[in-house]
Amino acid sequence: MPEPTSLDSTPPRRDFIREMVAEDVATGRFNRGPATRFPPEPNGFLHMGHAKSICLNFGIATEFGGTCNLRFDDTNPLTEDVKYVDAIKRDISWLGFTWDNELYASDYFEKLYEIAESLVIGGKAYVDSQSEEEIRTNRGTVTSPGTASPGRSRPTEENLDLLRRMKAGEFPDGAHVLRAKIDLGHPNMIMRDPLLLRIRRDAHHYRRGTAWKIFPLYDFAHGLSDAIEGITRSLCTLEFKDSRAIYDWLVAAAGFTAPPTQIEFARLELDYTVLSKRKLLRLVTEGHVNGWDDPRMPTIAGLRRRGVRAEAIRIFAETIGVARKDARVEIGAFEHAVRNDLNMEVPRVLCVLNPLKVVLTNYPEGLVEELTAQNYPHDVPKTGTRTIPFSRELWVDRDDFMEEPPKKFYRLAPGREVRLRFGYLITCREVVKDAAGQVVELRCTYDPETRSGNPPDGRKVQGTIHWVSAAQAKSCEVRLYDRLFAQPNPDDVPEGKDFLSALNPHSLVVIANAKVEPGVALDPVGTRYQFERTGYFMSDEESTAEKLVFNRIVGLRDSWVKEVNKGQK
Ligand code: ATP
Ligand code: MG
Repeated sequence: MPEPTSLDSTPPRRDFIREMVAEDVATGRFNRGPATRFPPEPNGFLHMGHAKSICLNFGIATEFGGTCNLRFDDTNPLTEDVKYVDAIKRDISWLGFTWDNELYASDYFEKLYEIAESLVIGGKAYVDSQSEEEIRTNRGTVTSPGTASPGRSRPTEENLDLLRRMKAGEFPDGAHVLRAKIDLGHPNMIMRDPLLLRIRRDAHHYRRGTAWKIFPLYDFAHGLSDAIEGITRSLCTLEFKDSRAIYDWLVAAAGFTAPPTQIEFARLELDYTVLSKRKLLRLVTEGHVNGWDDPRMPTIAGLRRRGVRAEAIRIFAETIGVARKDARVEIGAFEHAVRNDLNMEVPRVLCVLNPLKVVLTNYPEGLVEELTAQNYPHDVPKTGTRTIPFSRELWVDRDDFMEEPPKKFYRLAPGREVRLRFGYLITCREVVKDAAGQVVELRCTYDPETRSGNPPDGRKVQGTIHWVSAAQAKSCEVRLYDRLFAQPNPDDVPEGKDFLSALNPHSLVVIANAKVEPGVALDPVGTRYQFERTGYFMSDEESTAEKLVFNRIVGLRDSWVKEVNKGQK
């Protein structure tokens, strides 16, 4: 009897699926270790919902010393493509998982066809010549049984002959289908003689070319593919609950002993986004986003491009767990996981998104000081310092100045003193405006005694703001990504409208000319930072030394002032 491998420090999580797997192991039900699979159809990129399934299937294999296959459920020649196969493999690897075998349902076409013949010979399947439309109508309703078609009583020899000729490409699409012969009065509609194979005579399958003329339907291919691979537990989402009956019927009819069993769990649905390849494909093809890896997309590729780390996705998947009932998850829960992960990992730098010039009138012209800045706050295990240039002309953020501030505004205002992060205290003496009355410059003085950030006389200065030295700062483009949809459930729209009407028109705001401290220009593309007081950012793959581009990964939950008060200064 196989023993579960103990994970030295972390005990395996226990949810209802893991309980069942643990029981399989304890009772030796399958005479082998747990075997799971992740079965994507290569018709789109993977999204967060898939990530949940990946973490579950691969996680169980690791925790219980079993195996997990990557099986492409590629039985529909009309929608699948090798570019999706490549993207799916890349995304799973990036998430940190390794499959035991890379398999393709399309490699089972011969085997599935053999099973189809054996079902016909055993009187368990027949060729129906009704159209799919007629079949649907004649299937009956929940309250009335279906009507048998003439094909249902066809002699075995004739069925076999038709099936062979379907395979040989003698008939056009729709001329015949193969159906299981089960029960037209079955209370589960799926069991009323489900379709098994249909003709797609001229279709081009991305792996099998045009040689293959009949294609298995999902229910026919899925369970049997699991059985062929020796899967023990087939994990799928709740909408397949009714399919479990046909799953069990088929693996039994095909003669598999110790066949896999299906366990259903809740789909992940996330607020403010859609987790459906069909809908994501529309966003891509209709140009609402810039491709599958647009940083606003809930795809693995989009999240990666945005700057989210795989660790955060894995931790999020673990946190939400698996349940038997569908429920939407707040996007805030995901953002929380992303922020927590980045907080511990990424260095802090200063970047001014909305620059306003500050001139320090009493600072020597031409002098450049190098101030020491900490790369991490005190409550993060990482340490390190860097130097940042300081000079007479600085950029600060427009939001940190108010001409007529309310009471609790502790930043710059006429006559007010603030602390510059890692630097001096400055006082605003004069506000310079252009002809239109727009503030274009603040003329300030600095206190040379306050380089440490603290005045020797102990006077209280509440506010600390970020800044960069104007002459040395690098201009950069900053892409502020926000939620893709303007409402929690994008499908909750008035009749006649679809989810596209719920798109957030402000999901991307581009700041063309932000100012960042110069050191970041030396970092490789894909470096992540916290821009202090602003959020978490990563340099985009389009970023170059000449034109820096940053993506906002996620904003900050706490204001930076709060963090500073915790002990930085
Ligand atoms: P979509 O509706 O986005 O096309 P799908 O279920 O058709 O999703 P598949 O490629 O067939 O996509 O899915 C591969 C695996 O991922 C399946 O086992 C499926 O159950 C699982 N999966 C897909 N979406 C989710 C989700 N939102 N939550 C959890 N698991 C999911
Ligand atoms: Mg599917």
